[in-house]
Amino acid sequence: MDRLTIDASPRPLIDGTPAISALGWGMWRYHDDDVAAATARSMAALEAGITLFDTADIYGFGHEHGFGAAEALFGRVLAANPGLRDRIVLATKGGILPPIPYWSRGSRLIETCEASLRRLGVESIDLYQIHRPDLLAHPAELAAALDTLRQQGKIRAAGVSNYTPTQFAALAAHMPFPLISIQPEFSPLHTDPLFDGVLDQALERNLAVLSWSPLGGGRLLGAADDARTQAVAVALDAIAARQGATRAAVAYAWGMAHPSRPIPLIGSQTPDRIREATDAFKVEMTGAEWYAVLVAAMGKPLP
Ligand code: NAP
Repeated sequence: MDRLTIDASPRPLIDGTPAISALGWGMWRYHDDDVAAATARSMAALEAGITLFDTADIYGFGHEHGFGAAEALFGRVLAANPGLRDRIVLATKGGILPPIPYWSRGSRLIETCEASLRRLGVESIDLYQIHRPDLLAHPAELAAALDTLRQQGKIRAAGVSNYTPTQFAALAAHMPFPLISIQPEFSPLHTDPLFDGVLDQALERNLAVLSWSPLGGGRLLGAADDARTQAVAVALDAIAARQGATRAAVAYAWGMAHPSRPIPLIGSQTPDRIREATDAFKVEMTGAEWYAVLVAAMGKPLP
């Protein structure tokens, strides 16, 4: 009666690109410099039916190859695999500029996006996202920069990440074209978007929700070292045992079951784990089971 199933259908959201898959794949942990290994991960994602590939200019910062390294490596993967570019929805982000930390004012966002285009070796980015809100940038200035980028054909669509609903509304009010996506942290270990208006706004405005760290950055799969994570793992495992599914698949499915249809950004860099992520589509849970995971995450009963 109260059974939740996953809608795995892709969504045609951006003109001129493939439809956006129900799962995405992220390159935050794309740290090495190995084009063959990076190609294997990309192909595993494609084999799994994933079209949405998410990166950012900052990915690589703090690691051996530094700021821009993940985009540059993916640029080499694209160059080595002709045809790949047209099979994916290429999403990247800009706006974090160490050590400021956030700067999107004036022409900076345009220059940042142009640098991403050069590293990726592409003419256009399908989904360009402001990575974190620059509290010193007037939204009209950001909207003008995004409009310039779109008019010049450098981006096809725009979205934001880590914005509050009111920050989103302030930017949207100045935009000459609609923002199509948000990218909040959302998982059974980070349930804030259910309560802070982020997912409600996505439903109100029909935004694509790209969930970052859908496994809590791997904490949900590691040896849980705190009572809350352990309780969430137990609640997920109860569903997994009944379904013959993995805990990871159930965790993805738990987020995807929300009516805003969040798209988990798979962070794994292990080809088999990337392929297995589609097991989430087969998971069925009851509403009672879904709420049991939420109660475990909250650490107290619902009112
Ligand atoms: P995640 O999927 O929550 O965590 C991935 C980590 O879990 C990897 O280290 C992976 O290791 C590990 N893991 C352990 N067991 C696993 C299993 N059975 N299946 C899959 N993974 C397992 O995601 P994330 O990497 O933290 O973030 C995902 C994406 O979100 C990023 O790539 C990025 O695109 C986006 N993101 C955005 C922001 C933002 O501010 N907008 C912030 C963070 C992340 P292996 O690699 O060894 O498999």
